[in-house]
Amino acid sequence: MGGIVPKLAHHAHMRNLPEVVREAIQKAGLGDDLSKIDVVAVTRGPGLAHCLGVGLNAAKTLAAALNKPLIGVHHMEAHALTARLTTADDAQHNSEPYISATGAVNYAPVGSDPYPSFPFLTLLVSGGHTLLLVAHSVDRYTTLATTVDDSIGEAFDKSARELDIPWLPGRAGGPGASLEAYAKGSKSPTRYLDQLPIPMSLRKTKREMKFSFAGLKSAVTRAVEKEKKAGQGIMDEDKKMDLAAGFQHCAITHLCQKVEQGLRDCQEQGIQISSLVISGGVGRNATLRQKMEEVCANYELETQKKTKGSEVDKTKRVRVICPPPKLCTDNAVMIAWTGLERYQKGLIDRYDIDIAPKWPLDMLGSGVVPE
Ligand code: ATP
Ligand code: FE
Repeated sequence: MGGIVPKLAHHAHMRNLPEVVREAIQKAGLGDDLSKIDVVAVTRGPGLAHCLGVGLNAAKTLAAALNKPLIGVHHMEAHALTARLTTADDAQHNSEPYISATGAVNYAPVGSDPYPSFPFLTLLVSGGHTLLLVAHSVDRYTTLATTVDDSIGEAFDKSARELDIPWLPGRAGGPGASLEAYAKGSKSPTRYLDQLPIPMSLRKTKREMKFSFAGLKSAVTRAVEKEKKAGQGIMDEDKKMDLAAGFQHCAITHLCQKVEQGLRDCQEQGIQISSLVISGGVGRNATLRQKMEEVCANYELETQKKTKGSEVDKTKRVRVICPPPKLCTDNAVMIAWTGLERYQKGLIDRYDIDIAPKWPLDMLGSGVVPE
């Protein structure tokens, strides 16, 4: 629960990658016929340099040996584009995205447009990032807001640790998912709200497009300390659930307020947003998904009021789109899908590309990749 140890992660990549590649090829039903592969996609950054290096070298070698194109993918573009695995038709029928029973990605059928269409607003909430972006097209993104301190995933993980919430390593969703389960069990979710701030919601910071989670996280620590002091080192389970619920409420309200602001800003700038895409591990959170539905519904009411009763174009409604939970946390499907989207646009890389451990998403498309 203490995070990733870079050296161990590097060694694990070296040890496991060949077998993982072999298994993926088998599961995709390719057998020994690798000629069916069109293109090799790989994560180029951002992330831990040594781990990226192991993956990139393996992919380069595979692509060169097979004489196939190579595509270096930005990890956060992949989180953002995962939602487009589904077609408009699938989305309407609420079915699973276009993945076969074996887990292999099936190309969206020829002639069908991936859904949602650009431009869309993207809330990327993960272990290392809290980003609100406009996705203009494949390869072009503008950041509206990022965090000034911790990511939301870190805040969930650290709060779960402060609360000693039992976590089974390897369980889907990690400590954040355990905290969500605790919050669900709360009988008095407002108990701690007077001790917990909703970040960046004071008058002077209300309109600022920034996220911040350090203050909220410290408030959780203080509340735990206070309870433990009163309870001779013990905080009872009911109170833990209430504090988990309080933390989750404040963190999600903070996200909602900034998304609301982002929708208004886009409208002011004449950017016609089609959807709000939520992705990244914290996007698995059911309360977050539900609250964002409310944000978009309220936004629609607000827009209706502004048009003073004149007909509102329902096709312009902002829809909330979340990839299925298992595709919100890190997975290889999202890298493969982004590879396909880039391949279709002819965005192919050279075999001598380098890793990009620090790579802001806004720089994509500029042709400049920081070392
Ligand atoms: P990044 O993509 O920024 O490099 P990452 O890939 O490590 O970070 P993800 O795998 O996208 O992050 O997400 C992991 C995070 O999601 C963890 O912090 C985990 O606790 C959090 N998380 C997973 N499920 C939930 C949930 N149901 N509620 C809240 N947080 C969750
Ligand atoms: Fe990730």
